[in-house]
Amino acid sequence: MSNDYKFEGWLGLDKDAVEGKMQWKEFEPKPFTEDDVDIKITHCGICSSDIHVLRSGWFPTQYPCCVGHEIVGRAVRVGNKAERGIKVGDRVGVGAQAASCLKPDCEECTSGLEQYCTNVNCSTYNGNFADGSKSYGGYATYNRTPSHFVFKIPDALDSADAAPMLCGGVTVYSPLKKNGAGPGKRVGIVGVGGLGHFGILFAKALGCDKVVGISRSNQKRDDVLKLGADEYISIDEDKDWATKHARTLDLIVCTVSSPKLPLMDYMQLLRTNGKFVQVGAPEDILPDFNALAFIGKGATFGGSLIGAPHEIEEMLQLAADKKIKPWIEQRPMKEANEAVVDMVDGKARYRYCLVNEESK
Ligand code: NAP
Ligand code: ZN
Ligand code: ZN
Repeated sequence: MSNDYKFEGWLGLDKDAVEGKMQWKEFEPKPFTEDDVDIKITHCGICSSDIHVLRSGWFPTQYPCCVGHEIVGRAVRVGNKAERGIKVGDRVGVGAQAASCLKPDCEECTSGLEQYCTNVNCSTYNGNFADGSKSYGGYATYNRTPSHFVFKIPDALDSADAAPMLCGGVTVYSPLKKNGAGPGKRVGIVGVGGLGHFGILFAKALGCDKVVGISRSNQKRDDVLKLGADEYISIDEDKDWATKHARTLDLIVCTVSSPKLPLMDYMQLLRTNGKFVQVGAPEDILPDFNALAFIGKGATFGGSLIGAPHEIEEMLQLAADKKIKPWIEQRPMKEANEAVVDMVDGKARYRYCLVNEESK
């Protein structure tokens, strides 16, 4: 296959990009090395992190920036040192991480915690590889990523379903799995957006005794029950919800993208030794909370960052085996700006996936 292709995509040039002002332009990927895989992108999910980065919400973004880290496509060029047995023509995907140091003396990289590597930690976009070159994401024609962070997509999964799992899915799968979600456990998922809806699907697939969707209004109640949740709580509309449901959950995974969290009420939902894991990454600091709420029941407050490569593989296999069907709305890549604006407006039910029609 010829390597004569252009890396082009939707570039954010400044923070106004989030208002639907990304521009279609060519960009220069990292120099190809024998560990790399070039992917002709067919699908790319829209994650809320794309929104935070487009508007420099967490910290100043390195513009020009091509966001998108839920990438699926065909491998069109594969280095001769590539891992995972990837071959030209394979259907493959990339999540939110593109590189870590992978050194034999790295505590994180040698223990399946690559996402926490402190030596080299290159996000799929708005990051820098060890050679200093910039990373560019998947609202694009092609992507180049080191093969340690490229995954074969099981045949049983549609590309549009698999793409959003690579960040949105694994970000909830990882803390569910690490914190024992399964038979005998009762789990709450706060915020039913892209991540939250995966939280419900994966908590059910892992066999939890009870899964509760926790959302602001009652608007998503029917959807959440259809997704398989056993119960639904509307924190804006259900009266005295925290008292009524007090001490009913072992684990809460909170995906909310805003700092407006009634943390003390969520703590009330936890049983003795319960855990609250924050994965939503608001741009502003969280509200104050009283330590006694944790101390009094031996509870833990934690956080979790995406998932490691081995967890991504495990999650894809679970999704294939259990026939997990996420709720995805496909949008043409050409309309990425409109889709970003709709995502900011909270219209996705529950994940948008951009599709490069001509690459399919
Ligand atoms: P999303 O689809 O927009 O969902 C976020 C949910 O948060 C919404 O559906 C909504 O749930 C709730 N929410 C939104 N605005 C709110 C507000 N003003 N007040 C209270 N709740 C609000 O976003 P996503 O793609 O799932 O991402 C969620 C967050 O996770 C983002 O901050 C993203 O950057 C972060 N993230 C973190 C990681 C990680 O590694 N930790 C990885 C990926 C994404 P309800 O309507 O149900 O209330
Ligand atoms: Zn993401
Ligand atoms: Zn490392």
